[in-house]
Amino acid sequence: MPPPHIAIIGCGISGPVTALLLKQRGYEVTLFERVANPEPVGAGFLLQPAGLYVLQQINLANKMVALGAMVHRLHGKNHRGESVVDLAYRDLHPDHFGLGVHRAALYGLLYDACQEADVNLITGCHITQYTQNATKVTLVDENSQPYTGFDGCIVATGTHSNLRDQAKQIRYSSKLYPWGALWSIVPLEGFDCDNELRQRFHGTHKMTGVLPTGKTHLQSPENLFSFFWSMPISEEESWPHASLDDWRAEVIRLWPEITPLIEKITDKSQLSFATYRDVRMSQWHEGRVLFIGDCAHGMSPQLGQGANLGLTDALTVSEALTETPDDTVNAFKNYTTLRRSQLRYYQWASSFVTPWFQSHSKTMGVLRDSLHGAMCHMPVLRRHMLLTLACMKTGLFSCYDLKRFESLRELVRSV
Ligand SMILES: Cc1cc2nc3c(=O)[nH]c(=O)nc-3n(C[C@H](O)[C@H](O)[C@H](O)COP(=O)(O)OP(=O)(O)OC[C@H]3O[C@@H](n4cnc5c(N)ncnc54)[C@H](O)[C@@H]3O)c2cc1C
Repeated sequence: MPPPHIAIIGCGISGPVTALLLKQRGYEVTLFERVANPEPVGAGFLLQPAGLYVLQQINLANKMVALGAMVHRLHGKNHRGESVVDLAYRDLHPDHFGLGVHRAALYGLLYDACQEADVNLITGCHITQYTQNATKVTLVDENSQPYTGFDGCIVATGTHSNLRDQAKQIRYSSKLYPWGALWSIVPLEGFDCDNELRQRFHGTHKMTGVLPTGKTHLQSPENLFSFFWSMPISEEESWPHASLDDWRAEVIRLWPEITPLIEKITDKSQLSFATYRDVRMSQWHEGRVLFIGDCAHGMSPQLGQGANLGLTDALTVSEALTETPDDTVNAFKNYTTLRRSQLRYYQWASSFVTPWFQSHSKTMGVLRDSLHGAMCHMPVLRRHMLLTLACMKTGLFSCYDLKRFESLRELVRSV
């Protein structure tokens, strides 16, 4: 009997990782991507211990650590210099750390691994429709070209997905968050963040941050830093006409120490604007079709969890399919049961925390400045915050057994 054939739509982060995990388990996989020559777009991001654990399962974690930048602490201060966020991974476990990475670095590793694993990658193919019957799924692209014969389909098309509307049995909402972020990736030799993700806040309406992001290639001489500046989407239209010098002066006023980095931003084309959605689905499976990653549960990046949750989705669906290899429908149904508690927790935590850092609320800013810094130093709360940060919470009152992540010790040794 031929192995089950799974279609995966979207070659961002969740899609190719799922493809590699399924290939390991003997599945036939076809991966569809709408972009003809996929190139990673988007800001650098922070991989958490739980995300690194998933990369270990496809033997890419060591390579990723060699390219990325280790982050040992998140440290944010307000405009008065008072500590508002102070979380160090070592307080959770001495071997744990975050990894700042450039999307191009992760994408390059995933792309090469997909080639090696013989994943059938079809690029320049924008899927606009899926249909399913009792045994198979068919996909149709924007040129009405059908792709038939799949035992299952995993939709990993990101937060602004066009395919959620196709689901008949799933209720969903997808709200554009009123704030986004300008970001840039700046190469800067000699700049130092001491392996910390650093942020500065003024109320809830001004926020900036710098994340060490490592390199895209091992040979590359310069270290990269991702820079973020919070901006309401209502200002997106006026931004192209705003003065760059005034903007730079505003950032430097809030955080004089990053002047060398801001001086590297000499043209607005170096800055991109990212928007995010708050996506909720009543369930993630519909027969032989499953939604994962940002497409299924997009959220604001304030907690820095989207990519890590997408990686955990990939591992969970590959495990669910392995449990019932001849029954895709049941495997996808089990996936929803297995993911519900963690994803609901992070959706709740994200919508709870985001307005503390990005909103028009003065009260939230005052509350955050007076409470959040202190909360980071209360042992029980600090542990919950660290588990949340590490993407290890599995529900409001539950978390993974830390023994699950013992293999991360090897990563520390490999550095
Ligand atoms: C400013 C910012 C900072 C962030 N920081 C962090 C962080 O620190 N940590 C973290 O974990 N997360 C972070 N995130 C979130 C993270 O980027 C996302 O969670 C992650 O990229 C989602 O991966 P994905 O594979 O689900 O979707 P995506 O990466 O969006 O990939 C979707 C892919 O599907 C393709 N596609 C879409 N529609 C179709 C179609 N119809 N047919 C074929 N192909 C299609 C797209 O071209 C794309 O390649 C951040 C996000 C932003 C905006």
